[in-house]
Amino acid sequence: MDSIKIFAPATIANVSCGFDILGLCLDTVGDEMVIKKTKEKGITISKIVGQTLPLEAKKNVAGVAALALLEKIDSDFGFDIEIYKNIKPGSGIGSSAASAAGAVFGINALLGEPFITKELVSFAMEGEKLASGSAHADNVAPALLGGFTLVRSYEPSLEVIKINSPKELYATVIHPQIEIKTADSRSVLKQQVTLKLAVKQMGNLGGLISGLFTEDYNLISNSLHDEIVEPYRSILIPGFEEVKQKCIKAGALGSGISGSGPSIFALSKGEATAKKVAESMSNVYKNIGIDFDVHISKINQKGIKILS
Ligand code: ADP
Repeated sequence: MDSIKIFAPATIANVSCGFDILGLCLDTVGDEMVIKKTKEKGITISKIVGQTLPLEAKKNVAGVAALALLEKIDSDFGFDIEIYKNIKPGSGIGSSAASAAGAVFGINALLGEPFITKELVSFAMEGEKLASGSAHADNVAPALLGGFTLVRSYEPSLEVIKINSPKELYATVIHPQIEIKTADSRSVLKQQVTLKLAVKQMGNLGGLISGLFTEDYNLISNSLHDEIVEPYRSILIPGFEEVKQKCIKAGALGSGISGSGPSIFALSKGEATAKKVAESMSNVYKNIGIDFDVHISKINQKGIKILS
């Protein structure tokens, strides 16, 4: 095999109570990538369609992640990457993660799979480090493994766990077309939390994980709260409280900020409810007069998919 075409999915990180450690994989929104073996060693990016992003490998998350993988292996050839970008960078649904995860997944496949998928997470994280300054795994892990993933530990070693989730669980995500600077979405965060809030958040995270495994929708709903980050970050997203209220009214199990925003997600039982939620979310931004994209997706249990 000299060439591979893949679907690199969008992801929702944090999922309310799992700041920096929880993420889920979407099915209906993602990039496509074509990766080819080349005679020359190293990584080239020959084409990016849909967005203006750097072609220089060291400045593109796909190139950085690919180089991190190549450093660990003795390969006589190199790779060329083409990226067909559907996920807008800075939207909060893992645009950079899709490219980083897609690059290492595709190269690993062309190399005859020297690494298991879980091992690819740390290479993809190097790409995330370029995008956001911190090597977090809450987007790249669900993109690579599919479903929900939990980062049990970053240090001293990375441990990622795939979490089972009910088949009828759907995500709705709305991306209001406003720009939030990463620096702003980080600077509003408090570096200390009270014991009381930590206890609440731990209860919710444990409840969510348990609810996902046991397919207990009530427990999932009761647990989808973020006491630590959302109160501060949501201030940067116009219409956030209204969107959240309307989602719950439309039947969603819960709603929160997707990644560092500005996208807002909701989880629902069944596609029909997820569609109603999409309509309610859309109406809020139509009324405010902000352009938006909205996506409805079941949870993608596979992660990255090989198209050809
Ligand atoms: P979000 O998860 O909020 O959508 P991203 O993680 O996509 O945000 O980060 C986007 C940043 O990463 C932008 O500064 C963008 O220029 C940079 N970047 C570099 N390479 C890529 C790539 N291949 N895809 C998307 N963003 C990239």
